[in-house]
Amino acid sequence: MAARRVLVAGGGIVGLATAWKLARLRPGTEVVLLEKEPGVGRHQSGNNSGVLHAGLYYRPGSAKARLAVAGIREMVAFCAAHGVPHERCGKLVVAADESERPALMALLERGRANGLAGLELLDAAGMREVEPHVAGVAGVRVPEEGIVDYPAVCRVLAKLVQDEGGRVVTGAEVLRLRGGNGSGWTAETRAGDFGGDFLVTCGGLHADRLMAMAGERPDVRIVPFRGEYHVLKPEREHLVRHLIYPVPDARFPFLGVHFTRRIGGGIEAGPNAVLALAREGYRRGRVNARDLADTLRFPGLWRFAARHARMAAMELRRSFSRGAFARSLQRLVPEVRAADLAPGGAGVRAQAMRADGTLVEDFAFAERPHALYLLNAPSPAATASLAIGGEIAARVVLQLDT
Ligand SMILES: Cc1cc2nc3c(=O)[nH]c(=O)nc-3n(C[C@H](O)[C@H](O)[C@H](O)COP(=O)(O)OP(=O)(O)OC[C@H]3O[C@@H](n4cnc5c(N)ncnc54)[C@H](O)[C@@H]3O)c2cc1C
Repeated sequence: MAARRVLVAGGGIVGLATAWKLARLRPGTEVVLLEKEPGVGRHQSGNNSGVLHAGLYYRPGSAKARLAVAGIREMVAFCAAHGVPHERCGKLVVAADESERPALMALLERGRANGLAGLELLDAAGMREVEPHVAGVAGVRVPEEGIVDYPAVCRVLAKLVQDEGGRVVTGAEVLRLRGGNGSGWTAETRAGDFGGDFLVTCGGLHADRLMAMAGERPDVRIVPFRGEYHVLKPEREHLVRHLIYPVPDARFPFLGVHFTRRIGGGIEAGPNAVLALAREGYRRGRVNARDLADTLRFPGLWRFAARHARMAAMELRRSFSRGAFARSLQRLVPEVRAADLAPGGAGVRAQAMRADGTLVEDFAFAERPHALYLLNAPSPAATASLAIGGEIAARVVLQLDT
């Protein structure tokens, strides 16, 4: 087997998992991971809800369903093996009133079809045994799900890549990609030039730009959606034991504001979903002229906005009004008041959108000779990262060996 060098651009959890799987799957493969930040996992992978999702929501047969179910089991085993803080505390999905019951039952069916273990349908009294302060008419308990320290997963993966002989180069923003016609790739980065036989991009919020740098025309655009969190004040944390989620609106890939116990302590509420004015816009006022122009020039955005104007207005109201945020949460836990909430952090979701304004729901990548571009890896890609990485690595190895 000839030694080959694979360049992996992007040191989030998916790029790291891909690099590790590649190094293990094909001994002799030299993996070089290029990350633009001074450390790994600084974007979506380090600014998310920290939840292990088991695959309740996803269409049976989709890559999300398949890779979330396999991925959560692999991730839990990985965390146990490598001493990463995690806990399988279970999640409760709540139908706030009778109008949400059919959608809750549909979720239960999906979960069963996807092979989730131990799903339980609870009535109001049964829910309150699990979460004493919860309201609603019925709920589904998902015992396999839990919470985890994803930044710690990223750090462990970076070490494992290096233990396998690979390199993790930080501060190496890829600025240009040359070659790719079978005679090898050169990545020009802020840390120098790196050559390789195969290119994998896992660029998260910049996934489309990395693919374009390689001379391709991606048929989707990354649209950044900021998710803002509040935290429950310590004296009100007793209102939530574990994870309490609403029945999501099936028209969107976002799960709706929910309560999450953090692995490091504390209860978070959120995230909402508002259009971000910068791909890395973690603060509300942050604007990046290039990102904003890219988003506003994209016809898909206007088609999406026209179709979902009411939802967008509601999300904006919730972004600016703690009262409106609290009212959404009260559908789950009526005792929560606006005064119980303090501002928390924020994350930005990389969501691929088509020019017709529809969102790409499933995980998506484009495979070419000598290259593979990951284009859509939204939630639950952190949970599923090891399974996604395994799948990408297998495809790369197939190309390298044929
Ligand atoms: C608010 C929020 C909540 C979420 N909650 C959950 C959850 O609870 N559970 C779950 O499973 N998933 C959750 N997700 C989704 C999950 O975080 C992502 O699916 C996952 O982190 C994607 O990983 P990634 O490696 O593809 O992307 P990222 O983590 O964004 O990594 C991409 C990397 O590429 C680098 N990069 C970009 N351009 C370049 C370049 N030119 N050169 C070099 N490097 C570059 C970036 O710096 C970055 O480190 C959430 C996401 C958000 C935003």
